[in-house]
Amino acid sequence: MTATEQDPTQDLAHWAARAAALDAADPLAAHREEFLLQAAPAVSAYLDGNSLGRPLKATAAAVDRFVHHEWGGRLIQGWGQDTHVPDGGWMDWPVDLGDRIARAALGAAGGQTVVADSTTVLFYKLVRAAADHGLARGRDEVVADTDNFPTDRFVLEGVAAERGLRLRWIQTDPAAGITTEQVAAAVGPRTALATFSHVAYRSGHLADAPGITSAVHGAGALVLWDLSHSVGSVPLELDAWGVDAAVGCTYKYLNGGPGAPAFAYLAAGHHGILRQPVQGWMGHADPFAMGTGYDPGPGVRQLISGTPPILGMVPVRVGVEQLHRAGIEAVRRKSLLLTGFALDLADALLAPHGVQVVSPRDPDRRGGHLTVRAGTSGADFRAVTARLWAGGVVPDFRTPDGIRLGLAPLSTSFGEVLEGITALEHLVRSA
Ligand SMILES: *Cc1c(COP(=O)(O)O)cnc(C)c1O
Repeated sequence: MTATEQDPTQDLAHWAARAAALDAADPLAAHREEFLLQAAPAVSAYLDGNSLGRPLKATAAAVDRFVHHEWGGRLIQGWGQDTHVPDGGWMDWPVDLGDRIARAALGAAGGQTVVADSTTVLFYKLVRAAADHGLARGRDEVVADTDNFPTDRFVLEGVAAERGLRLRWIQTDPAAGITTEQVAAAVGPRTALATFSHVAYRSGHLADAPGITSAVHGAGALVLWDLSHSVGSVPLELDAWGVDAAVGCTYKYLNGGPGAPAFAYLAAGHHGILRQPVQGWMGHADPFAMGTGYDPGPGVRQLISGTPPILGMVPVRVGVEQLHRAGIEAVRRKSLLLTGFALDLADALLAPHGVQVVSPRDPDRRGGHLTVRAGTSGADFRAVTARLWAGGVVPDFRTPDGIRLGLAPLSTSFGEVLEGITALEHLVRSA
């Protein structure tokens, strides 16, 4: 028996010292101070930054400035080029912000990323574009996995019904995720498109994106990645991996705020070839010609349909600017330390009660969040989550019996991880 097993007080002192040492050595600690932490004084451990990131102080100022000076000051003229305003016209924002995201987080050259719509809608547009491209070449199947995020699965079902496609589902282990071997076995001459999440929303499993992309290409099909849980959390190299298309959220690790517009990436080689289905005036080559007949705009602009959500882009610009300064490699280093610390705490404090970690332990296969299940503890994790929220500890509950600990590296301290897991241990022990 070790001393720690005999004496829980000493155990806690040990973990508190470790959390303090990790926070003291954290090169990104100063970035945490850039957030409006005191805006939610009742929340002492925010472990859901992967569902909705915290606001930055600079975001509040930027929104205020935008309303007063850009919207209020320029009115309709804001859409055009105005040399008095350093940011240029709003018409340029969807691709300009896309380029900023690409530079800070995607490993993609300019002109291939656009900000518009929601992730769901952009996913629909790209699935339809890729499916139609495949159908024209006698490919009528789409490969996906059963544990992908619901919106992706629902959109796929809808497009399959609309276009007469067959969906080939890969059964994935919800405690892990999609593997290259599974994908290589599922794709073939009838595959038009294969689509997966890079980091699984439940387990946090980090898929081998380059390996899977090349397996899909080996079958002559296109690949579409959902990056919602990887952008701003794990480094991406979309150009180098040869990814065809991708979508992702900006309100998770990019801290763009509730309902912030999403981004889509379409590799330059597909521009002018893949056609998205929602043909609107803002994706037209000349939106203000108001003529007859749809003529898609140049490059990635063609993914735009209606008026771009400019106001919603203001916070995204601030979040992406912070990420760019911090550097995605440093973010990933801290992310691995945060999840590693959480794993150690879970093993020491939660496992003895029967709570199970259902996320990959291998750092090469681990995204930015961890999920624990009630296991044999007998605790009702839905009720436990409600009690945690009431006590200022905010993770999220995932059916049927999972608690997901989202550890956003720019805004989460090691002290918060310790506080969250000790609060969970306390509730599980008394269950
Ligand atoms: C969060 C998330 C979404 C959200 O899509 P919305 O259209 O923004 O609601 C989509 N896909 C994945 C994998 C997600 O994690």
